[in-house]
Amino acid sequence: PASRKARLKEVCARTAEFYHTQLMRGRGPEADAARSYLAGRGFGGDVPNTWNLGFAPGRGALVRHLSQLGFSTADMIDANVALAGRGGPVRDRFYNRVMFPIFDVSGDCIAFGGRVIGTGEPKYLNSQETPLFHKSQVLYGLDHAKAAMASSGVAIVVEGYTDVIALHEAGIKNVVATLGTALTLRHIRVLSRHASKRIVYLFDGDAAGQRAADRALAFIDKSMTPEAGRSQVDLVAVTLPDNLDPAEFVAARGADALRALVDDAKPLLEYGIERRLANHDLQAAEGRARALEDCLGVLAPIKESILAKDYAVRLAGRLRLRENDVLEALAAKEPPRF
Ligand code: ATP
Ligand code: MN
Ligand code: MN
Ligand code: MN
Repeated sequence: PASRKARLKEVCARTAEFYHTQLMRGRGPEADAARSYLAGRGFGGDVPNTWNLGFAPGRGALVRHLSQLGFSTADMIDANVALAGRGGPVRDRFYNRVMFPIFDVSGDCIAFGGRVIGTGEPKYLNSQETPLFHKSQVLYGLDHAKAAMASSGVAIVVEGYTDVIALHEAGIKNVVATLGTALTLRHIRVLSRHASKRIVYLFDGDAAGQRAADRALAFIDKSMTPEAGRSQVDLVAVTLPDNLDPAEFVAARGADALRALVDDAKPLLEYGIERRLANHDLQAAEGRARALEDCLGVLAPIKESILAKDYAVRLAGRLRLRENDVLEALAAKEPPRF
């Protein structure tokens, strides 16, 4: 019911406030370490205020605080900021982490991401699904980014919280992140409400970013259909060079270099085909044959479209095959199941 959700939002809001106060004014070596960790990443100054960043001390401090405010343990557990102890008392879910509150499009806190300070596993601990928080549709930073998306018509999607913050702070404000999941059709639908022209995926240059890129390509077929609600929106993608992620890239090379990269993003279909061609030895006939099968898998879900046929013709040129052979192979190709 609506009142239950309002109650859980209240828990999240008070939790974000508590963590933020701990970061700004907490005493002790751990709070100091959290502050210097963030400052060392360029997230000092106004950044903790702008993004309501926090520090989770753990040791039951949050549970005690929320109890004093009158919340029940069920409230805390349902909002996923506390865990039921095995037979014992409830515990804080987040312990000795830098906290990134996750806001919905209206700016209400609905969940948290917590990063270990320095190195450790898991690097990020995120809220689980709750009645408020559905990972597959939430985009981190959307409340901050929506105005810039509306005015530019462009949405940039990155992988990490820190990428969103770093790019906004560098003056690129139409940026959001998925929360450790692939971009879904629902994300695309949400973004197409704010950005009327283009959605740009910016993939990390590391191995995980490449896997994310491959998963995103699973949406090519669906994103081409009207149900995606994006008939006017182009989906384009680019991978960052040299193993960098967007935060690292903008720190090393500046905001203009990142803008140039974004402007150079390729339509998702072309991006997908190029990625697959790069995986094969096109000098050898066997490599070309495997590349053809791979690329036809990308086109098969939309094989009836003019667009797919156009790409098939281009593919024939790249693979030194006859156009008609490639078009026939496309017609016979079954779409892969993702
Ligand atoms: P940082 O710069 O702080 O090291 P990042 O933002 O570059 O981190 P990545 O390692 O590239 O993060 O991962 C991208 C996103 O994937 C993170 O922001 C987080 O949402 C999610 N993620 C990363 N590691 C984990 C993990 N171990 N468990 C859950 N989610 C994770
Ligand atoms: Mn990465
Ligand atoms: Mn990073
Ligand atoms: Mn990264």
